[in-house]
Amino acid sequence: REAMNKMPTYKGLERFKLLDKMGDGAFSNVYKALDLQSGEKVAIKVVRKYELNSSQRANILKEVQIMRQINHPSIVKLLSFSESDEHYFLILELMEGGELFHQIVKLTYFSENLSRHVILQVAEGIRFLHEECGVVHRDIKPENLLFERIPIRPSKIPQKRSYDEEKEDEGEFTPGVGGGGIGRVKIADFGLSKIVWNEETMTPCGTVGYTAPEIVKDERYSKSVDMWALGCVLYTLLCGFPPFYDESINVLTEKVARGYYTFLSPWWDDISASAKDLIKHLLCVDPSERYTIDEFLTHPWILGSAPPPEPTP
Ligand code: ADP
Ligand code: MG
Repeated sequence: REAMNKMPTYKGLERFKLLDKMGDGAFSNVYKALDLQSGEKVAIKVVRKYELNSSQRANILKEVQIMRQINHPSIVKLLSFSESDEHYFLILELMEGGELFHQIVKLTYFSENLSRHVILQVAEGIRFLHEECGVVHRDIKPENLLFERIPIRPSKIPQKRSYDEEKEDEGEFTPGVGGGGIGRVKIADFGLSKIVWNEETMTPCGTVGYTAPEIVKDERYSKSVDMWALGCVLYTLLCGFPPFYDESINVLTEKVARGYYTFLSPWWDDISASAKDLIKHLLCVDPSERYTIDEFLTHPWILGSAPPPEPTP
């Protein structure tokens, strides 16, 4: 199939042979490619310069600058960066398994154990960004969470909730290298990410120095946007649909603004109270009440290796 797709060629990208298109964006295409020098497969995000205004160009360079500094197993690595007159080229670690979004669509939903496995890896990446790098991602969503390897073979797609508990025992979904395991889930797309002010500025009681109040107020809770998004992803993993949805963008905006969501029956009936409790602490409208990444990581549902017993009705 790869041979049938005619791949474009780009001036400045002679070192690589494009194999397949993996993604489309507003200003970019992402390709699977072979590095002819090293023999390694990579992903290349090709950004069309001429469609960007100067602030969008600056954003790409900021995306590159931020990604360059980050080295963590839950963050897609930027291997190198180059540009030609017409394009920027971000050479990225290849994530063969594609988007978490597609896996949710395929599987309908993940069990609690598999959801925990996936969300924990995402959370480890967020913890590193927030605590070690002072970076907020600001675009955490299933399209930007990528699997290192294809999680399951299409013929093995089960229809029932219990699929991963069964298959995990067979090694089908076990994490780690080798075999057909699920591999790691990593955070991609730093196009909206931002370096936040230092820790002092983030804390209300710290020394704020000469920073203007509107900046302090804005920045204080900037990390919490990733925590909200993490809650939305966890909700979606567990039931297969997002917490906030409406055909009308106005109604949807209103629902989000009020934090109006429900644990819809029957889809949520069998999901543990502990998972719901965690989601409630993430989908809080008031960012000062929302869990931080450290609170998330120490919640009983995250710490528990198995879902706690169901409350008796
Ligand atoms: P955009 O800013 O256009 O959303 P992304 O960086 O999110 O750009 O890339 C768009 C899509 O390309 C992703 O949603 C994903 O499907 C695919 N993609 C991006 N990076 C990789 C990668 N390293 N490996 C595999 N696929 C990728
Ligand atoms: Mg994206």
